[in-house]
Amino acid sequence: MIVAANFKMNKTRKETEEYLKELKTIDFQDVKVAVFPPFTALMEDELIGAQNAYPAKNGAYTGEIGLEQLDEFGIKRVLLGHSERRHILNETQEFIAKKFSFYKECGFEIYYCVGEPLEVRKKGINAVIDYIKTQFEGIDLEYENLVVAYEPVWAIGTGVSAGRDEIKETHQSIRELTKRPILYGGSVKLNNIGEILKIPNVDGVLVGSASLDVEVFKEMINKAKEIKK
Ligand code: PEP
Repeated sequence: MIVAANFKMNKTRKETEEYLKELKTIDFQDVKVAVFPPFTALMEDELIGAQNAYPAKNGAYTGEIGLEQLDEFGIKRVLLGHSERRHILNETQEFIAKKFSFYKECGFEIYYCVGEPLEVRKKGINAVIDYIKTQFEGIDLEYENLVVAYEPVWAIGTGVSAGRDEIKETHQSIRELTKRPILYGGSVKLNNIGEILKIPNVDGVLVGSASLDVEVFKEMINKAKEIKK
């Protein structure tokens, strides 16, 4: 079971340090925990991953960070393809696939996000899977360090998670494409994490807003510890 926190553009370096200290007061047992803070809070810690990275070691890419900056902190984990980067920062599938290939070559653990907008979901599961397949273009679904995160765009940050049947059928369909772990993300909270983690082919969760409170996130990890699959 994987429980990952995406801070997005929240928390300072100091707050992240305090968060990690508090987080580590609990025993994670078999749960694998990952934390994705903003760039300014990257630090040497086995839980940390980057929310994004440019596909180059270094160079003339203003505003970006690359392999050299991640190496400084021994970071070997990156989140790619998040819907906020696809939709707000206009990242194309081609560019995301380039990042994927680069960080795959570097042996990184890649948390790779996919998910459909509401108008696609309204058309039904076949349309959803066709859409997700376009987000898998150029992505090696057999990569040993891949973790897929299914995050319907309409469920991210809205307080409305996808329903059990929607998660079940979508994860089942993604499972037919990859054997790698599949996380669900989109308004996962303390009051729904238990039910979500019990759904077949859900191997964990990617948590945004609810992860910002370390006490809540600790409780979420404790709930994940109870689920045996
Ligand atoms: C996310 O952005 O990855 C996410 C799942 O956000 P939230 O939990 O806030 O919906």
